[in-house]
Amino acid sequence: MDAEHRVGDIVDDYCTRCKSVMNHSVVSVLDGEPARTECRTCYSSHKYRHARGGKEQPGSKRDLFDEILDKMGPLGHR
Ligand SMILES: [Zn+2]
Repeated sequence: MDAEHRVGDIVDDYCTRCKSVMNHSVVSVLDGEPARTECRTCYSSHKYRHARGGKEQPGSKRDLFDEILDKMGPLGHR
């Protein structure tokens, strides 16, 4: 990793609405890492997913934001 991210930066991230990796703007930052991003295409905001697709990594914890967003969004896999 190189530079820290800042609010307003454009990053690649996985959008659950678009169901692919899209340009996102960073809307909040935690410890130099994007915490939440907003899709530049559909303008939905969500937790930063490190540009990973729908699959959760083994052992990764789902946080409350994801739980809420999953209930709101048409994800289909839950
Ligand atoms: Zn999107």
